[in-house]
Amino acid sequence: MNSGFLQTPIEYLKGVGPNRANLLRKELGIHTYQDLINLFPNRYLDRTQYYKIAQLKQTNAEVQIIGRITHIKTVQQQRGKRLVATFTDETGTMELVWFRGHKWIRENLKLNTPYVIFGKTNWFNNMFSMPHPEMELLEAHEKSLRSAMQPVYPSTEKLSSSGITNRVINTLMQQLFLESKNAFAETLSKPLISSLKLLSKSEALFNVHFPKNQGLLARAQYRLKFEELFYIQLQLVRKNLVHKSKIKGYPFEKVGEHFNTFFKDHLPFKLTGAQKRVLKEIRNDLGSKAQMNRLLQGDVGSGKTIVAFMSKLLALDNGFQACLMAPTEILSVQHYNSLIELSKSLNISISLLTGSTSTSSRREIHENLENGRINILIGTHALLEDKVKFKNLGLAIIDEQHRFGVAQRSKLWHKNEFPPHVLVMTATPIPRTLAMSIYGDLDISVIDELPPGRKEVKTVHRFDANRLKVFRFLKDEISKGRQVYIVYPLIQESEALDYKDLMDGYESIVREFPMPQYQVSIVHGQMKAADKEFEMNRFIKGETQIMVATTVIEVGVNVPNASVMVIESAERFGLSQLHQLRGRVGRGAEQSYCILMTSHKLTHDARTRLETMVKTSDGFEIAEVDLKLRGPGDLMGTQQSGVLNLRIADIIKDGEILKIARSYAIQLLKEDPALSNSENFPIRNTFAQLVKYRNIWNYIS
Ligand code: ADP
Ligand code: MG
Repeated sequence: MNSGFLQTPIEYLKGVGPNRANLLRKELGIHTYQDLINLFPNRYLDRTQYYKIAQLKQTNAEVQIIGRITHIKTVQQQRGKRLVATFTDETGTMELVWFRGHKWIRENLKLNTPYVIFGKTNWFNNMFSMPHPEMELLEAHEKSLRSAMQPVYPSTEKLSSSGITNRVINTLMQQLFLESKNAFAETLSKPLISSLKLLSKSEALFNVHFPKNQGLLARAQYRLKFEELFYIQLQLVRKNLVHKSKIKGYPFEKVGEHFNTFFKDHLPFKLTGAQKRVLKEIRNDLGSKAQMNRLLQGDVGSGKTIVAFMSKLLALDNGFQACLMAPTEILSVQHYNSLIELSKSLNISISLLTGSTSTSSRREIHENLENGRINILIGTHALLEDKVKFKNLGLAIIDEQHRFGVAQRSKLWHKNEFPPHVLVMTATPIPRTLAMSIYGDLDISVIDELPPGRKEVKTVHRFDANRLKVFRFLKDEISKGRQVYIVYPLIQESEALDYKDLMDGYESIVREFPMPQYQVSIVHGQMKAADKEFEMNRFIKGETQIMVATTVIEVGVNVPNASVMVIESAERFGLSQLHQLRGRVGRGAEQSYCILMTSHKLTHDARTRLETMVKTSDGFEIAEVDLKLRGPGDLMGTQQSGVLNLRIADIIKDGEILKIARSYAIQLLKEDPALSNSENFPIRNTFAQLVKYRNIWNYIS
């Protein structure tokens, strides 16, 4: 069947008038035959079994029964009428009930004629009843082509109240298959189909809508899920390849003096295997003539800083400048300080530019950037201002993916002739399958190994009632010279209340930990940047032992002497936030602790989050749990939801299929980049169609 047929507007299908077409478009986004075919069932009802009324149990979900209606009556009740039919088989009697559509039902139902009914049963007034049953005359039922595994299609309130029931959709689907003679063009190549032992397209479509049995249904679903994920991956991988062939980058051909000197003489520790591997991946990119576009994932404390630093040295060695952009002032300062430390024996010039840089030093920075005297610029959003012009920016590193949008990233691109190489670093591990779908067009490096000798942070969950014990523990730690974070939630919707909690908490801490024995810092979002900085620095320098804060300290802050993280109202934090906060401790040589404080009232999800935190410190494992709890849309925010809008596959459950699909897509484009081998024509055509009719599958962007 050619693609023209599939693009036929839905109103041309027999049984779909203008009204129904309107509803289908509005409610389900079905514009064409193709859209209808791609409306996949949410689930299937097993209609291979028939029940007798005497066998019914109160726990039955949905049942199918053969019997006759012996009597129909209208029952007046407080809110409107209900229509009740007495339904019997040879074993007993039950009731069928309707709350609407009485007239139609009364006129059409036949008394004393065998029917097959299907639906959920209730136990009511000492009798089973079935509200709004699906009904079919036994005679028609026996002749029907409908399969025993009955699909249940996605629907809406509006559709069912307008009479477009599941049954109607099913009938339309039959009509469509009848008109198409079930001859759908193959959309995958022969070698692919045979190597994965897939059903043909036609068989798969038929069996997903009219499954002959469980086995064929499973194979049909596999084939269609594979296909859906395969074409997304093909699109993403292709975008990556096109990017590489079209977007030129400055090739950093040599590994020069800065890099070599640092590597030979000044490396503060032995690099981990993962750090070496990732550096090699970055070096390969930088050495090629294409612009690097790489995401570097690594859990908190995995050692991204030094990898980023050595990448910058490669830029410098090739006569280019580099910059690093961080989401907050505090983080920029920390990055700046650690770079100064790392580079102290190298002859390079590093500057810091943030919102609080004075006008005069700002002017100086602008000048020295343009004349090339500054080698590396660190800073916040201030880097994106128009006045900031580099002489020759070769590498831009962005810390913390989430906080910068794509538009901001590309602003950096326009600073000079060629776009600089871009390395995005994120400490929020993203499950591999999700990363493949969302960042599938980027190259991804993962530091999946922590530096040696790191002690796992001991994590416990304590109820508020045990607060005094917790305070005693904190005093013990402080007496050993350690420092402590106490973090309060700050959620936008309840900001005023949260500030009150924070201030109340602060006051009780100050009471419990009195001066001069104890010094307490406080940092929160309503403070002026300079005050925040001042307080933060007192803590960093060890002048205060306790830091009371909202989540402003979540990202990146590095105080190795801090060994305890107390998280108040921990049930209100998301998993990735909890994990980030915990990452603030465990940075020194001492055993560190994370104490999750909650009330006794916990939701099931909150309990799962706390248990996960106590059980594991592996950021990727935590991210997997987070994905299951929150779903992909919530996890990544709405910006990426298009990619996740799948028709049949499920990014959480079908991760294995996704991996296979991606590897096939990569292999295919490697062997036949233009898809010009005749055996790949079906793929080329399908791909072109998908791009052309972008409304078909809305993830093709
Ligand atoms: P993150 O990935 O969170 O940015 P950092 O780069 O800040 O991690 O590294 C965390 C700590 O681990 C730092 O104190 C750093 O000096 C140290 N570190 C990094 N790599 C190694 C290594 N290979 N061996 C020992 N310590 C390391
Ligand atoms: Mg870091």
